[in-house]
Amino acid sequence: MTTPDRMHQYDARTVDLVFDYMRERLQYNPVPLDHPGDGEHLRGVLEGLLNERGNDPADVLKLYDHELSRAVISADSPRYLSFIPCAPTKTALLFDMVVSCASLQGISWLEAAGAIAAENQVLRLIADRAGLPETAGGCFVSGGSAGNLSALVVARDTARHRRGLDGRARLRVAVSDQTHSSVTNTLNIIGVEKFVVPTTDHRLTGEALRAAIEADGDPGSIIAVVGTAGTTNAGIVDDLAGIAQVAHDYDLWFHVDGAYGGAGLFAPSVRAKYDGIEHADSFVVDPHKWLFAPFDCAALIYRQPALARAVHTQDASYLDVLHIGSDEWNPTDYAYHLTRRARGLPLWFSLAVHGTQAYTDAIEAGLTLARDTAALIRDEYEDLELIREPELSSVVFRRKGWAQKDYYDWSQRLLAEQIGFVTPTGWEGEVVARFAFLHPGTTMAMVREILDTMR
Ligand SMILES: *Cc1c(COP(=O)(O)O)cnc(C)c1O
Repeated sequence: MTTPDRMHQYDARTVDLVFDYMRERLQYNPVPLDHPGDGEHLRGVLEGLLNERGNDPADVLKLYDHELSRAVISADSPRYLSFIPCAPTKTALLFDMVVSCASLQGISWLEAAGAIAAENQVLRLIADRAGLPETAGGCFVSGGSAGNLSALVVARDTARHRRGLDGRARLRVAVSDQTHSSVTNTLNIIGVEKFVVPTTDHRLTGEALRAAIEADGDPGSIIAVVGTAGTTNAGIVDDLAGIAQVAHDYDLWFHVDGAYGGAGLFAPSVRAKYDGIEHADSFVVDPHKWLFAPFDCAALIYRQPALARAVHTQDASYLDVLHIGSDEWNPTDYAYHLTRRARGLPLWFSLAVHGTQAYTDAIEAGLTLARDTAALIRDEYEDLELIREPELSSVVFRRKGWAQKDYYDWSQRLLAEQIGFVTPTGWEGEVVARFAFLHPGTTMAMVREILDTMR
């Protein structure tokens, strides 16, 4: 067959090959951690693969399975306790494949009303948990970074408009010394300065924010504040209620970065820490982190979506048809993107199938792992020292007497032996150990096995 549409024909053999592989991958229990890659080896196995004639799909899939996938550390392994893991529900993973097969263009109501209605149902559920008003709404973007960028552009332009500032006026956004690096990136991109407010025990408070603004020589240039609902390193939730009050008093846009910790809104044992989030002007949570969705999925929600629309709507004559008579929802109007995958659908499907209680249970499991691990470190491991009581699902601790190299060697050894993927972190200038719990299949036996290697 040499017709130009030969690649678009249904080929039962390739379908069976890929489906069989997916079935096998979904059944791994537990998912193996796998290993870091060696560049020279990988380049060698890939050599000549992209040629004019193509290859047998069985051979290519085998190369992926045996070589490439083994050189990818599985973020969904229950032993993956670094950074922030990604442990999608099986149902969400399955539906991600449906989204891929359906080739949905998630830009506009015109093209994808059915998909967008379902995505918006999920955004509504999250907005309700945050206590945001009925009018709140937004869209799904690729990650917390894309969400922070899209939201803070709206903050900037809204402030310029309301305060009658031109493009050259100095603008600053209040952040803490714990704010995520993606916010620093955002501010560089959008030409806004950082106004760094010192934290008390790594937590930004309304009191500190107010004091910093009052002591500043140019308070009028401060247009927004970013509160973090769960710092990535230690899981600390800022004083959102206090920050909201100061934001109100100084007419600041209040953005809440809950990329990691926002999922705690679904966990009764920690919900009170988020009080004040209902005052946010914009809010980001990454379902690809603690809401068990596959990469890449972040929910971005605005209190007043019309403000975002005014900033992000793209005017191109070929797009005009999207906006005619539309009070319908075009996700493209709420972030800097245009084309987008309907990446909220896997979460929607999983939520619809399992119900919210299953999510609450799985999130609480991560919180329990963190609390139990803290207790274990305190009670049973003399050489270990808890740095801080865990607030969410991350635990930061030190091994007495260890220097930086000890932590790095230990981390590499753990991975080589497939016991765990646990990378060290920094804490007040010191290298320390950190667990980021999230996978509800992680067990305390696994935790003990890892801690025992530090004796
Ligand atoms: C992970 C994280 C981000 C960045 O999100 P991405 O999805 O990686 O782009 C931003 N803020 C916080 C607090 C995070 O934990």
